[in-house]
Amino acid sequence: MNILVINCGSSSLKYQLINMKNEEVLAKGLVERIGIEGSRIKHDTIGKERYIIEEPMKDHKKALELVLNAIVDEEHGAISSLDEIKAVGHRVVHGGEEFSDSVIINDLVMKALEKNVELAPLHNPPNITGINACKELMPNTPMVAVFDTAFHQTIPAENYIYALPYEYYEKYRIRRYGFHGTSHKYVSQRAAIILDKNIDDLKIVTCHLGNGSSVTAVDGGKSIDTSMGFTPLEGLAMGTRCGDIDPAIIPFIMEKEKMSLEEVNRVLNKESGVLGISGVSSDFRDLDDADEQGNERATLALQVFANDVKKYIASYAALMGGIDVLVFTAGVGENSPSMRERICEGLEFLGISLDKELNNVRGEETIVSDDSSKVKVMVIPTNEELVIARDTNELVNKR
Ligand code: ADP
Repeated sequence: MNILVINCGSSSLKYQLINMKNEEVLAKGLVERIGIEGSRIKHDTIGKERYIIEEPMKDHKKALELVLNAIVDEEHGAISSLDEIKAVGHRVVHGGEEFSDSVIINDLVMKALEKNVELAPLHNPPNITGINACKELMPNTPMVAVFDTAFHQTIPAENYIYALPYEYYEKYRIRRYGFHGTSHKYVSQRAAIILDKNIDDLKIVTCHLGNGSSVTAVDGGKSIDTSMGFTPLEGLAMGTRCGDIDPAIIPFIMEKEKMSLEEVNRVLNKESGVLGISGVSSDFRDLDDADEQGNERATLALQVFANDVKKYIASYAALMGGIDVLVFTAGVGENSPSMRERICEGLEFLGISLDKELNNVRGEETIVSDDSSKVKVMVIPTNEELVIARDTNELVNKR
């Protein structure tokens, strides 16, 4: 039977239809500009030509309706009836402290998701909208929520509590939650399988480096610390997010630039990171090009990013008392040999030694460290959709 995986953003919707017998992706697509002029769907069914739908989609329900039509379309579709969809798995960004695992969606779960809107005001509302749209269109199909935060619920208090008055944790639930959990979980488990080791015996550092980036310490299969925090703004310098900065900078620039809270939030989230430093782009491919052409600020941005990742790797090795495996994943981690090289350079003291030739690889599951390297350095393409589909299938089978 098939599982439909849905990932709703504020104006976008990504989906995959996966056959759980062989975990084959039957169809996938992307809806862009929902609620904005120029809405369109790019739909791909395996073995068929791309199907583009361009028509107004005023909301997620309309978008989903068109997606479901495309999936069962006689000419462009993958299945003949919606009855062939056993369940829907939804990516939900914030599960707060309530969810340390995926859950079947019911009214109580919906209430908890609503409660967590204040923790993820940009992300949870579109996730909830997607679930509601699905409920209306497929009222009898079970649905599961898979949370970005769930894998990190094993982080111990000493690594999730901020050094703020404790009452803020009690009153407002201010603590480290961490994100990209589905990805960190997937690649750490894959690493153990590829190395034919028991994950309980491994100290793994996983680097999810994309537009948003985070590093996680996975000790014995459990997340014990991660670089993103209360929100996905903390940690590494990212495409456009500032990552770790001195918090005193915020009131300082607000005063100097006469900025509102909203404006400063925009600067920290959308105008900072490697874009802010370089003034060139948030895309690492553009930065590589600019670096090659001698743009010093692009070089600086790349080196700031690399050093951030390096510092997290070393500090997590310290927290775990060692490191056996280092994994690179997501857009930059999977596709940029030069960034992996910048990051690993100088980490020989930890037993990390890259093989330059093996490292010259993009988007493949492979080991890139040399024979002398005590730490296995690996590239593992992430597959969050597959984890969502597996969790959904498992929960629905258990019902
Ligand atoms: P998201 O966080 O949006 O899921 P991805 O994981 O898809 O992002 O990563 C997107 C980023 O990956 C792009 O911004 C780009 O900088 C980077 N990227 C993709 N391909 C390459 C490449 N060949 N070299 C360097 N960076 C790349």
